[in-house]
Amino acid sequence: MTIEKLHEALISKQLSSVEVTNYFLNRINAAKGLNAFIDVQPELSLEQAKQADQLIAQGNQGKLTGIPIAHKDVFVTKGWKSTAASKMLGNYQSPFDATVVEKLGLLGSGMVCLGKTNMDEFALGSSNENSAFGPALNPWNLDYVPGGSSGGSAVAVAAGLTLAATGTDTGGSIRQPAAFCGITGIKPTYGRVSRYGMIAYASSLDQAGPMAKTASECAWLMNAIAGKDLRDSTSVERENEDFTRLLDANWDSSNSNASQPLKGLKIGVPKEFFAKGLNHEVKLAIEQALKQFEALGAVCVEVSLPKTELSIPVYYVLAPAEASSNLSRYDGVRYGYRSEKYKDLAQMYTHSRTEGFGAEVKRRILVGAYVLSQGYYDAYYLQAQKIRRIIAQDFQTAFTQCDVLMGPVAPDVAWKIGEKSKDPIAMYLEDIFTLSANLAGLPAMSLPCGFNQSGLPIGLQMIGNYFKEAEMLQVANHYQTSTDWHLMQPSQNAVGEKS
Ligand code: GLN
Repeated sequence: MTIEKLHEALISKQLSSVEVTNYFLNRINAAKGLNAFIDVQPELSLEQAKQADQLIAQGNQGKLTGIPIAHKDVFVTKGWKSTAASKMLGNYQSPFDATVVEKLGLLGSGMVCLGKTNMDEFALGSSNENSAFGPALNPWNLDYVPGGSSGGSAVAVAAGLTLAATGTDTGGSIRQPAAFCGITGIKPTYGRVSRYGMIAYASSLDQAGPMAKTASECAWLMNAIAGKDLRDSTSVERENEDFTRLLDANWDSSNSNASQPLKGLKIGVPKEFFAKGLNHEVKLAIEQALKQFEALGAVCVEVSLPKTELSIPVYYVLAPAEASSNLSRYDGVRYGYRSEKYKDLAQMYTHSRTEGFGAEVKRRILVGAYVLSQGYYDAYYLQAQKIRRIIAQDFQTAFTQCDVLMGPVAPDVAWKIGEKSKDPIAMYLEDIFTLSANLAGLPAMSLPCGFNQSGLPIGLQMIGNYFKEAEMLQVANHYQTSTDWHLMQPSQNAVGEKS
């Protein structure tokens, strides 16, 4: 079942939104062991579904009306908890909806919220193990991480607990869990989607995007969430765009050859993405995918992104710097967790933060405060900003030779739960191929392109130039029309449906 098919079933009254919502709520309940959700409120979801059914009965529906969606718990929502997977916001209830939630919801596209998905605390992490609510489990193998930070969203889509979910990507958090769970996800151009109501990690890098089984479903969701928002001054004013408009079109409109729809497309393959450290099976799967694109008419050219390795130190200076500033608002005074043990104001701050934040969050705050402090600001923060600019320029040089870039999402497949949690550097290194798109603000997506010998999914990354999401979705859709990696499903046992 896809969003498109469900839409048809809803408008032809074969199914009601209440029935569909009940179906997914039951699946979520049966798959509790996956720990994909932080908060589920069936009555609220069903109330929304009823209203969606009314809209459909009145003929007031849009293409997404009545279709359920799950939101990463980094988006604030009225009714459901908004915790960012932190003890600091453990019981926090937001008085308003994030713009993304509002636009997708009943006042916008008419989708029904199924609940809030698990994630790394404040979106800091690559494995979902940093959640105060425990890790979500990879439905392909329950001993493995689902990736992070949008792990719960990826698990929910992969395990069929929802057709779509929202995610956010600061350094790979949509693409990497999508890759590890065998689904599709896109991080739009920075500024394409409003960050209002998205609990901030690193504001100059954070961007929201959709996660679903297919590129065409992501295109439908992009239509709903993109656009200027007066409440986010970094969101960009652009003419309204239909992200589905190119899905089935040939790349070159003068080419009418249906078996080579991508004729004329130039794919840049950055040689640095295939350097040592890349897992052999991942490499093979990516090469196989590139061959498939060639069969569809595209041409691959080698390009260079010479500063790829530097994206790790640059990102891990800049992101913690912004995080330390954004996280300073959690002081136990206005909202969130407050320690019970304090004698004065200073102690209240210290104890609330010490007890409320998890280990990785504290590590990033320390690093961030350090690189911003007097004497180190010039040596670290400013240097990192300069290299960030060079990384962005390298992409522009590469785009003079190609239309899109392709390579692996991550150097490896999912790892075992616990395997890297004692070694933060090893975890940071896994982000090498995703960070640079955020540093440059470019749109980037992840597509399922194979499995390793043990049955763990592998993701292909596509990076486009600014605001080229519709073209990327077009390229991705042609790949998915000619392959079936995105149709693979984890065994039903894994989603807790044994009996
Ligand atoms: N893994 C990266 C980090 O820990 C990226 C996380 C994200 O994109 N939110 O910062």
